Amino acid sequence: MEFIWIDFLNSIWRDWRGTGKPSRDRLLEAEWRASFLNKWELESGLDLNEEDFKHLTQLRAFLSRVTESVASGGDVDEKDILLLNDYLQQSPVVRELVKSEDGWRLVFSTTQKGWSRVIEAIVTSFIHSLIEGHLSRVKICDNKDCLWVFYDATKNHSKRYCDDKMCGNLMKVRRFRERKKQQKK
Ligand SMILES: [Zn+2]
Repeated sequence: MEFIWIDFLNSIWRDWRGTGKPSRDRLLEAEWRASFLNKWELESGLDLNEEDFKHLTQLRAFLSRVTESVASGGDVDEKDILLLNDYLQQSPVVRELVKSEDGWRLVFSTTQKGWSRVIEAIVTSFIHSLIEGHLSRVKICDNKDCLWVFYDATKNHSKRYCDDKMCGNLMKVRRFRERKKQQKK
């Protein structure tokens, strides 16, 4: 399962192999932004000014904090709810009656444009994850150099790494080496 807010949190690239490369904020990379907007069918070709960047990084820090808290057994607290409601209030909703082949529908959409629309989409996606109970399945990769956020779709919620072939394997090798070192002592 894919969620825009999880993709958004993963806009920070970290050197998961732990070779000492500095992490990269891909929000600052035009190519990453273009593919992100394209994937989620949002307005393409948006420029990013300093103000937009500030708002996006604020949202990312907030959602990262909540995700960390939930992933380590905590909950979304009162303060978080207030902040989420603040975001909701910043984006007015327009309702439209639509008749389609399946019948009548009331369609909700936002009047926001540009990055405000992107922020609205991210916040709404997060809130849906919360309402639908998906949040408890969201995890942070157990490799401390990686910290990739992912949705654990396994039956018993047992996934520890973003990718078993990459981080999973790396950690296995590290544990193996660690054991060997211990044995030599
Ligand atoms: Zn990982």
